[in-house]
Amino acid sequence: TQQSWRTFASAAPTAAFAGKKGANGKYTVTLIPGDGIGPEISQSVKDIYTAAGVPIEWEEVDVTPILKAGKTVIPDNAIASVKKNTVALKGPLATPIGKGHVSLNLTLRRTFNLFANVRPCVSIQGFKTPYDDVNTVLIRENTEGEYSGIEHEIVDGVVQSIKLITWDASERVARYAFHYAQSSGRNRVTAVHKANIMKMSDGMFLSACRQVSKDFPGISYDEDLLDRVCLQVVQNPRPYSDRVMVMPNLYGDILSDMCAGLIGGLGLTPSGNIGRDASIFEAVHGSAPDIAGKGLANPTALLLSSLMMLRHMNLNEYAANIEKAALSTIAEGKTITGDLGGKSSTKEYTTAIIEKL
Ligand code: NAD
Repeated sequence: TQQSWRTFASAAPTAAFAGKKGANGKYTVTLIPGDGIGPEISQSVKDIYTAAGVPIEWEEVDVTPILKAGKTVIPDNAIASVKKNTVALKGPLATPIGKGHVSLNLTLRRTFNLFANVRPCVSIQGFKTPYDDVNTVLIRENTEGEYSGIEHEIVDGVVQSIKLITWDASERVARYAFHYAQSSGRNRVTAVHKANIMKMSDGMFLSACRQVSKDFPGISYDEDLLDRVCLQVVQNPRPYSDRVMVMPNLYGDILSDMCAGLIGGLGLTPSGNIGRDASIFEAVHGSAPDIAGKGLANPTALLLSSLMMLRHMNLNEYAANIEKAALSTIAEGKTITGDLGGKSSTKEYTTAIIEKL
């Protein structure tokens, strides 16, 4: 019953940055450059940080899977680095489809129990898209749902994939969403669901959100069906501005890409994976193998992800300075990458940002 679920209610997530400055006055942050365009866009972020004087020292680690006791796993030193530093910036990692090693992204999320995936979707001033005032934040449950990785072939030709929803994980991400709304000045949280069909699993997710909402009387709470939200957001995203939308894993994965399309594409959309003991920030996009190594990639999404990281670390002034330089470079439109309709290389765009710092 709902009553028994409630007994599992967990404490508020702290999710605070726990890193310490070293003797050199700098914080050490783990950098996972990643695959495909990852190294190129990571270099751009490193160059901008050096120019802006951000007090960060990068600890670069390779997460290419290794074989250990018959299993492919992430090298121990990569895990140890994130554990020690409690914060990491990560480039995209390629995942083979339908075969091969387990998704490294999923492994990192599980290893560090990164329970909330935060994806702000905010229009960039001066960059023309059908709507110029999108300003919403999606918070996706990041550890379970359809992405629990529990699949079996029951008999030949029949596969079962299990969607797992727990009260604990639902309550934890709901509480994080309300805290996020409160600290970012957003006055509404909307839980997005399909409880009309998945009455028990999404039903429990909603019950958890409803219960948490009672602890935040200053923030309005409502619920909306995923399919309805998809339709409404593309027809008119304005009513969704200034709010936080919280939802189970798969819905958040898909809806956030759709919202990214509204503000100009994947090259502009950042994200943070928040856990109690560590947080990993990364672009929403993948490794873009079609343009890798050509110097054409747009580093903005990784750069904006890194700025979420700086704010998480309370390095707000550095974040604001870099953000202003990047956004005004895009707004001017003279030195932008191909995906935004420009002709500039990753390097030229990076240099244009550095000149504005
Ligand atoms: P993708 O995001 O890599 O690429 C989709 C399209 O967007 C491509 O045309 C690409 O050129 C373009 N694009 C993406 N990022 C761009 C950027 N910064 N600048 C300019 N153009 C950009 O998606 P995909 O092709 O479906 O996936 C490629 C690989 O990435 C797959 O192995 C997938 O599993 C992996 N992936 C990883 C992550 C992650 O690490 N978090 C996320 C998504 C996909």
